[in-house]
Amino acid sequence: MEILKTLIKKSDTKIVLIVLDGVGDLPLKNGKTPLEYANTPNLNNLAKKSALGLHIPVDLGITPGSGPAHLGIFGYEPLKINIGRGVLEALGLGLELRETDVAVRGNFATIKYEKGIPIVIDRRAGRISTEENKRLIKYLSQNFSSIEDAQIILRSGMEHRFVVIFRFPYQISYEVETINDTDPQAVGKPPLKPYGKGKMAEKVAKIAEIFCEKVAELLKNESKANYALLRGFSVKPKLETFEEKFGLKACCIATYPMYKGLASLVGMKLIEFEGMNIKDEIETLKFQWNNFDFFFVHIKKTDSAGEDGNFEMKVKIIEEFDMLLPEILSLNPSVLCITGDHSTPCILKSHSWHPVPVLINSSYVLGNTSERFTEREALKGELGIFYAYKLMPLLLAHAQRLKKYGA
Ligand code: ZN
Repeated sequence: MEILKTLIKKSDTKIVLIVLDGVGDLPLKNGKTPLEYANTPNLNNLAKKSALGLHIPVDLGITPGSGPAHLGIFGYEPLKINIGRGVLEALGLGLELRETDVAVRGNFATIKYEKGIPIVIDRRAGRISTEENKRLIKYLSQNFSSIEDAQIILRSGMEHRFVVIFRFPYQISYEVETINDTDPQAVGKPPLKPYGKGKMAEKVAKIAEIFCEKVAELLKNESKANYALLRGFSVKPKLETFEEKFGLKACCIATYPMYKGLASLVGMKLIEFEGMNIKDEIETLKFQWNNFDFFFVHIKKTDSAGEDGNFEMKVKIIEEFDMLLPEILSLNPSVLCITGDHSTPCILKSHSWHPVPVLINSSYVLGNTSERFTEREALKGELGIFYAYKLMPLLLAHAQRLKKYGA
C-alpha cells in the first residue's frame, strides 16, 4: 500500500462513502434478501449507471466485528491492526482516548471471602441494571480519582459493564497489552492478579491491582456488585490519518459512539448534529458540503434490524434510505460509494463472513452490468469480489486523485 502514497495527487473532487451497517444478507422471504425485497427505485436507477461488486470485509470465512470491518473499508488492513477490547469499549461509550491512556473493560462481579480470600461467585454481579451501574460508577468516581500518578476515569456501560481509563502524565507503550485479565473466567475461583511484561506494564498492573482493592473496599456493603474484574488492557493504536494516507480532509457523520470513535482513530473530523435519523445525517452532509473532501456517513439501523432478525425492519430502513438518496445525488459528488461494513443476515441474527455489495458511482464507470444494488446483481458487476481494504484506492482513482504508476 506504500506505493499508493506516492501516487496521491491534489484535486478538488469530493467523495461520499455511505455505510449501511450490516446491509449484506441472505435470502429469507420469497427467496429474497432484504435488498432484493425492498422497493428501491432510486438505488435501482443508480445501480444501472454504476460500478458494482462485492467486498470481503476481512478475509474469507472471517466474521468481523464492526471495528475491523470499518478499518477495512477505511483502507487499513484489518488483520495488521489490533484494536484492543478496552479501546473499542471506551470508544463505544464515547470516551476520547489519548496516547497517555490505558483503556480497560470492567465487569462488576460478586465475591465472597473464604478465609480472607476473595472468591468470585458471579462474574456479572447478577447482571445488575444499567441504572444500578450508573449509581455505582458515580459513587466510585466521587470517592477516588487517582492512584499514584494515574488519573482514574470511569464510565458506565450496559448492565454490569464499565470502562476504566488510567490516564498517565506520559506516553504509554504497547507493552501494557501484555497485562492479563483479572477475570478467572469461572466461578468458585479467586480473581487473578494482574501482571505485565516490562517496566511500564508492571507499573500499570500494580495500579490496576490497587484499583481492584479500592473498588472492593468501597463496595464492600453492596449485595451484588462488590467487586470489579478487569479485561482487555489496551492502548490507542497509532494509525496514519486519512489526510496522511490519502491526502483527504475527511469527516464522519454518525450517530453511534463506536463509529465516531473508529473514525476519530483515523483522524476524521467528527461532526456534531441534532437527531438520530438518516434524514438528519443527510441534512448534515449537505450543511458540511463545502468543508471536506471525504464524507463518511454511517447508517446503523440496517445492522440492528439484522441482529434482531427483523427482515421487515431491514427492508423498511433500506427503503427509507432509497427515498433520501436523491438528496445525496443532488450534491453531485464526484464519487458516491454505497456499501456495508459486513453482512448481518436476518437468519443468523448476527454478523457474518459473507461478501458485501459495493456500488461506486462516478463519471468513469463501465456501468450497465447490474439492474439493482443487491447481493446477486452486484456479482455481475465490473468490480468483482475484492478485499475491503482495496476500496479506498478505487475511490481515489475514481475521484481522479491518483497519478499514473511508472513511466
Ligand atoms: Zn457493523
